Amino acid sequence: THKPKVVILGTGWASIAALNKLDRDKYESITVISPRNSFLFTPLLPCTAVGTLSHTSVAIPIRDITSYKRYLPPTIEYAYAYASEIDPLTKQIKCNHSGQFSNHSSEFTIGYDKLIMSVGCKTNTWNTPGVEEHCHYLKESGDAILMRQQIIENLELASLPNMTDADKNRLLSFYIVGGGPTGVELAAELSDLLHEDIANQQHSFFRGVKADMSNVSVTLVQSAPKLLPGFPHQIQDFCQSHLNKESKVDVMLNTRVTGVSDTTMELYDKHTKTTRNVPYGLVVWTAGVQPTDIAHSLLKEINSVTTLNDTTIQTDSHCRVLGAPDIFAVGDCADIVLLPEYMKYVTDLFQNKLTLQQAIDPPPPPLPPVLSRSSPTQRLVKRILADLEKLVVENNIQLDFETVEKIVEERCSRQKHLPPTAQVAQQQGHYVADLLNNSVIDMYHNDESTSFQYLNRGQLVYVGAHVASMALPGTNDIDVTWAGTATNFVWHAAYFGMLESTTGRYELAVDWIKSYVFGR
Ligand SMILES: Cc1cc2nc3c(=O)[nH]c(=O)nc-3n(C[C@H](O)[C@H](O)[C@H](O)COP(=O)(O)OP(=O)(O)OC[C@H]3O[C@@H](n4cnc5c(N)ncnc54)[C@H](O)[C@@H]3O)c2cc1C
Repeated sequence: THKPKVVILGTGWASIAALNKLDRDKYESITVISPRNSFLFTPLLPCTAVGTLSHTSVAIPIRDITSYKRYLPPTIEYAYAYASEIDPLTKQIKCNHSGQFSNHSSEFTIGYDKLIMSVGCKTNTWNTPGVEEHCHYLKESGDAILMRQQIIENLELASLPNMTDADKNRLLSFYIVGGGPTGVELAAELSDLLHEDIANQQHSFFRGVKADMSNVSVTLVQSAPKLLPGFPHQIQDFCQSHLNKESKVDVMLNTRVTGVSDTTMELYDKHTKTTRNVPYGLVVWTAGVQPTDIAHSLLKEINSVTTLNDTTIQTDSHCRVLGAPDIFAVGDCADIVLLPEYMKYVTDLFQNKLTLQQAIDPPPPPLPPVLSRSSPTQRLVKRILADLEKLVVENNIQLDFETVEKIVEERCSRQKHLPPTAQVAQQQGHYVADLLNNSVIDMYHNDESTSFQYLNRGQLVYVGAHVASMALPGTNDIDVTWAGTATNFVWHAAYFGMLESTTGRYELAVDWIKSYVFGR
């Protein structure tokens, strides 16, 4: 029988999960294409930016992964390149080399029977002037290395004898923009570095630096009213107060960055509706993501041959790209369209009410598994029901099917259904590999029992001063939360266990002990 050729785009969470699970005997070839020749353990990237960990501890070379079972056929091929165009009709991918240093340019085309697209996403600056030119990002190891170099440089410059107080204040004002988990963890790590290691020169890597700590500030700027959107409110509140009180991070909520120049940043306060300029020494932008160029290119291809007009890659509940069923899009680059599932649940509920001649009051039936396993989907159902109730109660509107469907459609189009996390990406990677391996599953079968179901295993966030917080999904949609130094131990243990590399774990353990004993 014909064995399919599988191509995987990317070496991130979803790609590596799929790669590790694909049964090599079942494919003619498996080819991985990515401009990054290592897997990056992103949750620990903030630690590398401040020197708690070295960047090699959090990266596993792709060659180690592809040659892991080298005695098994077929060999997994890796190409150090990026995909620039995908043609879903001819099933061809155009690739370009990704060498930074050589002038050599090469382009090649590769065919596939099944494509796993897991190219992640890129930073979104929301067209804020000056961000691209003056801000650091935190997506890759290179970003963390650059950031660390600038932190060290600022500290060294601030300790020069001719520096005025104003110069020192500016150089040592560190801003993190974006109050999601990446921003929070980076602010916490940076503050630890400054207030533990730099302040305590006995244990500091920067022993010679005579920086005056009164000039040092770490500020976390968040445009929303709360940090950590999507987390349980107990964690949001704990995190905000812990960062402020214990970790010495200034948290600015309801504040938007509207422009960045080479030395100052413009902040807009949503409450007072005022704008002010603040001097800065370093700004790290972690406020949002957007589709990559290859995702845009694929969408253009799909939209040109179908009636779809999508702006992000949408898949069905089996992770197959709408309009290109031989492409599986997983991880941050795609979103599952669950509109039919929401529509069925809500219209059934509505039908029930009509039949029973009742208002919205009776408790809704349990959610189908595909909607109940992730907090965004649960929240969305709640919002849809709340919208409908508002129409009935406040506006006294008699609901009909058309109105119900319109509200479901509107709400669904405004929200990503799965959180953009490593957990989701990894589970989707495993799921797609299983789907491809398991020839008994009819790929075009839309049975819910074979659809992707996200299992929320909880969320961990490091909040500084040796404290972490954790939320685990509990019963009745109520999360169980913990925070403290014991949770910090869980945080370390969880990531140590998740890093699937013996060398990586060894380096991780050594780095943690080294930082703890000798400082960063
Ligand atoms: C600093 C940081 C901290 C984070 N912390 C957490 C956390 O604590 N918990 C959590 O759950 N999530 C966390 N995340 C989010 C998590 O990393 C992402 O959700 C996850 O990486 C998504 O996996 P992915 O496989 O979709 O994409 P990625 O892991 O981003 O991988 C994308 C891959 O595609 C490659 N690629 C890009 N363009 C192309 C192309 N044109 N052709 C071929 N290959 C291409 C890239 O080089 C990369 O190898 C964090 C993210 C960051 C940046």
